[in-house]
Amino acid sequence: MSLLEVKGLTAGYGSVPVVRDVGLSVERGELVALLGANGAGKTTTLLAISGLVRTYQGEIRLDGRPVGGLPPAHRARAGIQHVPEDRSLFPSLTVDETLGLAAGGRRSAEWVLEYFPALRGLGGRRVAALSGGEQQMLALARALCRDPSLLIVDEMSLGLAPLVVSAFFPVLRRVAAERGCGVVIVEQHVHLALRWVDRVHVMAGGRVVASGTTGEMRPRIDELTSAYLGED
Ligand code: ATP
Repeated sequence: MSLLEVKGLTAGYGSVPVVRDVGLSVERGELVALLGANGAGKTTTLLAISGLVRTYQGEIRLDGRPVGGLPPAHRARAGIQHVPEDRSLFPSLTVDETLGLAAGGRRSAEWVLEYFPALRGLGGRRVAALSGGEQQMLALARALCRDPSLLIVDEMSLGLAPLVVSAFFPVLRRVAAERGCGVVIVEQHVHLALRWVDRVHVMAGGRVVASGTTGEMRPRIDELTSAYLGED
C-alpha cells in the first residue's frame, strides 16, 4: 500500500476545476517531483492533497485511509505537512519561537536541527532578518517538527540561488530515508529535480501527462521539455 494514493482528483477554486482526473502516488521513503510549466496545476494539486482547495471528485488516501473529506487541520494531524510557496513564516518570531510553536512545547525540535545545522546559531534571530535560504530551511524545519509521514514542499527554490537550492535536495533525501516519510515537491528546475528525486509526474493543462521513475524519465527529458516544461 502506498503512503499517498491520489486517484481521479478534480479540484479548483470556486466553481472552476483547475486540475482534472489527477492520479499520483508517493511511497514511504520516496522523493517525488511534480513538474510542469507555470499554470499547469501543480500548486493546486498540492493544495488539494492538504485540503486547502476545494476537491470536486476523487480519492486521497494516506496509509490507505481516506483523508479527502477531512479539513486541513485533521489531515495535518494524520501526518500531512505542507510547506507553501510563500513559506508562511511569521516575520516577527525568532527561529526558536517558530520551532518551539511547531514542536508544541513538550517535544524537542533538537533532532530537526541535525538536518539544518545552519539554524543552530540563529535561534534568537527574527525571521525577518534571515536570508531567503535560511527562511526556507526554517520553513522545512518547522514542518519536520511535526514528524510528518508526508512532507509537501511547493517551489522550494523560489527566489533562491541555484547553489542554495541544490543544498536542500540531499537534506530531503536524508529526511525521506531516515524518517521513512514520503516527500512530494514542486520544482521548476527540471534537471536539478531529476538529479535527486525517485519519481516524477509531469503536469500540463491541469492533468498528469507523464509519470515514471527518474531513470525512465531522463531519456525523455528533451521531448518532455519541449512539449510541456518550457525552459529549465
Ligand atoms: P505555478 O508554477 O505558476 O505556480 P502551477 O502549475 O503551480 O503553476 P497552479 O498555481 O496550480 O499552477 O495554477 C493552475 C491554474 O489555476 C492557473 O490557471 C491559475 O490561474 C489558476 N489559479 C491559481 N490560483 C487560483 C485562485 N486562487 N483562484 C482562481 N484560479 C486560480
